[in-house]
Amino acid sequence: MTSDDKDSPGVSPSLDDDLFRQLIDSAPDAMVIVGENGLIRLVNIRAEQTFGYSRQELVGQSVELLIPERLRGGHEAHRAAFFSAPKSRAMGTGLELFGRRKDGSEFPVEISLSPLKTPAGTLVSSAIRDVTVRKAAEQRFRALLESAPDAMVILERDGRIILVNAQTERLFGYPRNELLGELVEKLVPKRFRGAHVLHRQGYSREPKVRTMGSGLELYGVRKDDSEFPVEISLSPLEGEDGGLISASVRDISDRKHAEATARLASERLLSAIESIQDGLALYDADDRLVLCNSTCRELFATALRGPIVGRSHAEIVEAALAGALFELGDEPPAAFRTRLSEYHKNPIGVLDVKTQGGHTLRMTDRRTLEGGTVSTLWDVTDDVALVAERKLAQELAEAANAAKTEFLASMSHEIRTPLNSILGFAQLLQMDKKAPLNERQKDKLNHVLSGGEHLLRLIDDILDLSHVEAGRVMVSAEPVNVAEVLDEVKAALDPMAARASIELTITDPVDRTRQVVADRTRFAQILINFGSNAIKYGKVGGKVTLGVSLQTPGMLRVSVEDDGIGIPVDQQDRIFQPFHRAGQETGPIQGTGIGLAITKRLSELMGGAVGFQSVPGSGSQFWVSLPEHDVKEAPKEVGTAARIAGSTLRGEDGPLHTIVYVEDNPSNIAFMQELIAELGRVNLVTAPTAEVGIEIVRARQPAVVIMDINLPGMSGYDAARKLREWPETKNIPVIALTAAAMVGDRKRAADVGFHKYLTKPVRVAELLGVIEEVLSPDRG
Ligand code: ADP
Repeated sequence: MTSDDKDSPGVSPSLDDDLFRQLIDSAPDAMVIVGENGLIRLVNIRAEQTFGYSRQELVGQSVELLIPERLRGGHEAHRAAFFSAPKSRAMGTGLELFGRRKDGSEFPVEISLSPLKTPAGTLVSSAIRDVTVRKAAEQRFRALLESAPDAMVILERDGRIILVNAQTERLFGYPRNELLGELVEKLVPKRFRGAHVLHRQGYSREPKVRTMGSGLELYGVRKDDSEFPVEISLSPLEGEDGGLISASVRDISDRKHAEATARLASERLLSAIESIQDGLALYDADDRLVLCNSTCRELFATALRGPIVGRSHAEIVEAALAGALFELGDEPPAAFRTRLSEYHKNPIGVLDVKTQGGHTLRMTDRRTLEGGTVSTLWDVTDDVALVAERKLAQELAEAANAAKTEFLASMSHEIRTPLNSILGFAQLLQMDKKAPLNERQKDKLNHVLSGGEHLLRLIDDILDLSHVEAGRVMVSAEPVNVAEVLDEVKAALDPMAARASIELTITDPVDRTRQVVADRTRFAQILINFGSNAIKYGKVGGKVTLGVSLQTPGMLRVSVEDDGIGIPVDQQDRIFQPFHRAGQETGPIQGTGIGLAITKRLSELMGGAVGFQSVPGSGSQFWVSLPEHDVKEAPKEVGTAARIAGSTLRGEDGPLHTIVYVEDNPSNIAFMQELIAELGRVNLVTAPTAEVGIEIVRARQPAVVIMDINLPGMSGYDAARKLREWPETKNIPVIALTAAAMVGDRKRAADVGFHKYLTKPVRVAELLGVIEEVLSPDRG
């Protein structure tokens, strides 16, 4: 080929020109000059170093020698194409080019080609640069890009994307090749694109590291057109052809969602707090107000200028004091301040404060988990007024009650005295032998007598009821044997039943061990009331039955059943109201209508209840239910036997002492008798009432008196007081032994002068201890 001939080595004098050689040897890149036939015509020193061949080894060889074998075929074709339209350009734009050294190793290169017109024809000069180091750096940069958590987009200054990482593909839904070379606005929602271009251009002029659009909501758009909120930071990158821009894009959907949820929650909380009518304030751990509702804000509005949130509790109190928000009364401001801050520091219970407006606010402070405080303030003005009103009403009612009782007591006394003479003289008239009355007179006198008696009963009943209602009646709850009480009640009612030709029985079998917790006297009173009604409202020749049943666990029910006239249905619901006689007001049977009211009050005082069933014309059943005393569970003291055995009062030697025990309950008497029987040197005398008891004490001068408090008739208190009054009994120690029914009893007992006050159930060791102490010889 002609060109081959023209390009043959040595033919071109200019290539051999020394100046030209020196010129290309000074080039920083490897220079290889090739003829149209592909043979190397000239190389520089750098080319020798780069490829590991000497100049002699290269000149005249095909240029493909410097190319890896696998790429040689393609290269020949490209070479031919270049010579057909030679112009300066980079070789294989967008392709990875490689060189091959003499030892066969490959390395990445970048080649720029330029035609060289010589007299010997067109040559091509190729400048070859070993880009191993740069490629490695690029590789590292890519790896860095890929490892970034965010989508990284690298742009040219004109906005074209030149690099993206895998996160970008994932986030925006585009494969890499659909992004490279595109304008970055492809990733921006359409409505923002115009503005984005302007911003981008602005940034290109003055690039620096910063976040994009601070304070703005930024959005990205995916290939599928869906949008998502993003956060973008920009930084300039130095590229080869001027500055590049790197944008890292983070999807903040989750964060936005979490923020929205948190905002919603806090908005809900705020509106809930606002809707509370009470004032509410929240202080943080440093005791600064972080939150408060409008009620609270309004309260402090007059005293505080500027926002209340952020102020400390102390500041707020100070401002409230300065603004005279609270009505301090006689309290000095310093004391008020201390009281408020002490409560705030250690909030126990509540704190009431008064405002100048006449309102009472109740403050409740509670600690929060973070060590702050929630303080609520609610207006209790009405409640306070109500409490005061109720208290006043109660005091008035109590005073009225006391006055009523007082009135009834004196009235009963006033009526009783003349009534006694009426009844007394009427009886004298009835019995007068000297001037006997005729039948008509006797008949009339009988009316006087029965009227008088009725009046007397009425007075007694009214007095009794008013005592119960005024809380003057004490009940001492103690174990009471039910069968014994039933026997007593039957004995008391038998004469009345006989007069009315009614058969009174106790249903068999009554378990004789059964006990209730009750006041024995009052329990019997209730049953006698039921029983006398059953007889009064019974039928001649009828039956009245006393019985015991266990209706609910723990409660024993004692009933009185008759086959009498029954109670009209329309009267039944008011039967326990005082003075209500259920249609008997005009009937022949005498009564006051008070008895059942008293039974109801008494049963309630003892923790029980009363009730009835009645069928008009066939009879009624009235019952009282009381807590059962579990005999098996009665407190058994450990070591009681040993305590008794070791008592100083057991031996036969020494003086004999007498103890008087005033007690109405037979079980208690039996217990005391058993206990004292163990003590050889003590002699026990018992009295069933206080009246009998004090007479025995005066007569026998015992060493000790043991006194029950709640006795039929005179109470233990009155008896003890009486004994204190008489010189012959005033030094005898009296021990109270009682089922304390009311608060303040112990104090009252001390005032009366009891030596000791013991409560039932009796603790043997304690009782013995007291008796021994009193009876010990070294006692004055
Ligand atoms: P009174 O003194 O009138 O008997 P109570 O309070 O004991 O007063 O009883 C109130 C009323 O209940 C009696 O007037 C009577 O009408 C009615 N009542 C009470 N017990 C019986 C009963 N066993 N049978 C019929 N009626 C009764």
